[in-house]
Amino acid sequence: MIPIAEEIRIRGTVQGVGFRPTVYRLARACGLNGEVCNDGQGVLIRVSGSAASLAEFVTKLQQECPPLARIQELIRTPYTGELNADGFIISESINNTINTDIVPDTATCLECRQEIFDPFSRFYRYPFTNCTHCGPRLSIIRTLPYDRPHTSMVDFPLCSECAEDYHNLENRRFHAQPIACHLCGPKAWLERVDTQPITASLFSMLDDVDAVCTLLQRGEIVAIKGLGGIHLACDATQEIAVQKLRQRKNRYRKPLALMARDLGVVAEYCAVSPQEEELLTSPASPIVLLQPTGKKQLAPSVAPGQNTLGFMLPYTPLHHLILKRMNRPIVLTSGNVADEPQCITNDEAREKLGPIADYLLLHNREIINRVDDSVVRVIGSQVQTIRRARGYAPAPMSLPPGFEDVPPILAMGGELKNTFCLLRGGEAILSQHLGDLENAAAFDAYQNTLNLYLNIFAHQPEIIAIDHHPEYLSAKLGQQLATANQLQLANIQHHHAHVAACMAEHSIPLNSTPVLGIAFDGLGYGEDGTMWGGEFLLADYCGFQRVATLKPTAMIGGAQAIYQPWRSTYTQLMSAFSWEELQTSYGNLEIVNFLNQKPLQLLHQMREKGINSPLTSSVGRLFDAVARAVGICREESSYEGEAAIALEALVSLNNYEDRSNYPWQLTFLDNIYYMDPSPMWRVLLNDLQRQIPPSIIAAKFHQSLAHIVVETVSNLCQVHLINRVVLTGGVFQNRILLEQVKRELQQLELEVFTPSLVPINDGGISLGQAVIAAARSIQRIY
Ligand SMILES: [Zn+2]
Ligand SMILES: [Zn+2]
Repeated sequence: MIPIAEEIRIRGTVQGVGFRPTVYRLARACGLNGEVCNDGQGVLIRVSGSAASLAEFVTKLQQECPPLARIQELIRTPYTGELNADGFIISESINNTINTDIVPDTATCLECRQEIFDPFSRFYRYPFTNCTHCGPRLSIIRTLPYDRPHTSMVDFPLCSECAEDYHNLENRRFHAQPIACHLCGPKAWLERVDTQPITASLFSMLDDVDAVCTLLQRGEIVAIKGLGGIHLACDATQEIAVQKLRQRKNRYRKPLALMARDLGVVAEYCAVSPQEEELLTSPASPIVLLQPTGKKQLAPSVAPGQNTLGFMLPYTPLHHLILKRMNRPIVLTSGNVADEPQCITNDEAREKLGPIADYLLLHNREIINRVDDSVVRVIGSQVQTIRRARGYAPAPMSLPPGFEDVPPILAMGGELKNTFCLLRGGEAILSQHLGDLENAAAFDAYQNTLNLYLNIFAHQPEIIAIDHHPEYLSAKLGQQLATANQLQLANIQHHHAHVAACMAEHSIPLNSTPVLGIAFDGLGYGEDGTMWGGEFLLADYCGFQRVATLKPTAMIGGAQAIYQPWRSTYTQLMSAFSWEELQTSYGNLEIVNFLNQKPLQLLHQMREKGINSPLTSSVGRLFDAVARAVGICREESSYEGEAAIALEALVSLNNYEDRSNYPWQLTFLDNIYYMDPSPMWRVLLNDLQRQIPPSIIAAKFHQSLAHIVVETVSNLCQVHLINRVVLTGGVFQNRILLEQVKRELQQLELEVFTPSLVPINDGGISLGQAVIAAARSIQRIY
């Protein structure tokens, strides 16, 4: 048998994740000679051995790839140079250049979990245990390269045992930068908000972390400093505790996230499919929206008006230790006031969460980057990302064919649920969810995080992409950056960005024929200066043609309409009836009575003269209108989309099998199809008069909307060559609508794409902006 020699080049996330020790172990197990090292492109391996053992080595490397590593590319070439012929070694990094990928924060691995509950381990009950395969990453990094002195672990010099583990190639903690133990690492402690001493009975507990469990069981509210932020926790089965939390936090209706000790506890409340189980237990450990089974009930205030519960499993040793004795779920919601970002420092916690919590569980490992919990769900068999943050960001995403040579681009995102995106060398780095920029503290955090990313990834953009909306703070900041640094500015339409983000995620190549993108959401600035939100765009990466839309109506009072759904009901009704007719025929209905108590003359005038009443084709506002007509969110909604979510939740209350639905009209004008719901309203009001249950009305509305979308697509198919359809935008977080539209479009033999790893709401548009700007730059369209 003649030995052969090969050079194996590996690209991807392969540094700082325990890749070289794995290579070392496998090479030796396969009896190969040679060496492995890090270099500027990733990992380089040079080996010799029999063809069979080389093949075995490569297979095993892919199979036994360390949990946090990601092999993007593995290239084998024959090697004829010098080679270490005496065993296998890890050699020095070449050129000392370090690949700059930062790994997301990762849930505690199984081995670390076993150690924290093993009384004979030196990590027994240590809340900050981690290893090369798990623990904090993005949340603790200040600058590059990713070494301990550049993280918030700088304050904690290694003890001799940790140092030994750190330097031992055979140890799971080899080069684990955040490694720590009781002796040398961060510590957690409990404080009473009223600064009184903590009662003696709590001292019978194992330690401060364990005492938190007892406090929660007693119905207290505890602020808990975790991995990427500080949460507020209480027992999710005690209605009084949950209500107390909501009142003190001034958060009355938004659903609260839950954490449970293990899958067994989750399964007592919700159905968990194998795919959902995989997500819950994945290294990212997101909040997964699950269907309650109704077998066992939580406190009613946990998620009022929702048909899902958001569960996550413990993802740090601290959370595992708190929940060890807890056989029921706890509420674990972000610790913040109003719409501000989640608190991250001990001082903020004392000042801002003190009035909300009874106790604070703090620690002295600084959170440098705020990283919220991610939120995902499974629809059909596809994952849908609602918030992409902890566990996912900032893992890079590969760009589709054609985008290999993109110039460095920075895309600023939108306004709500915002993210930004960096494009470089064929990949996109999407930031974690940064919240709604209209909040001053969130905007500050957005700018800080942006600076950090530009620094960490050594990113010097040549093009800055912004939303078309002149008032978005992200767009204004982008403009300033472009002017100050003399960079090119790319102005991108909101819904085009939604569609392009989905195309990029699904690797649709740069030079493909256009897709039909259907983008339904709350609001986005349209090319004609009106607010769009119900768009059918024939789109490629460079441009689009608007081929259909929801018929626009006035948004009375502008942005006020977002939080007062009755404004949308009013404007919809007025597009179908005269006020006199409404009075005469439907004067007995609650909604008509309600509107009668509003300043009608003023509203009529605003609508007729367009005073503070921009036109909008938003499907989100149409959902608001229907929801309010059946009595949801009578005066106000407390967050955008609340009414729509409640309307969807109503549908599942009955098994509506009747296929009858509401009539719409489809008109064709100036090369655009208009979906007009005005004929629907007469039938819907008749249903209300006949006291048809709101759940049936909601079901009929969903069906009618799905139906008109499919009819519109069928019509468009006759005019345009369409074989691929993209469904995107926040409205498609609606499971019923998404599933039905998708199914019916597939029956028309169309290929249907929806965003999965990229948020389907405005959290995804920065990626779309970036790839559109890149496409225009590559094709020299400015
Ligand atoms: Zn671990
Ligand atoms: Zn130590």
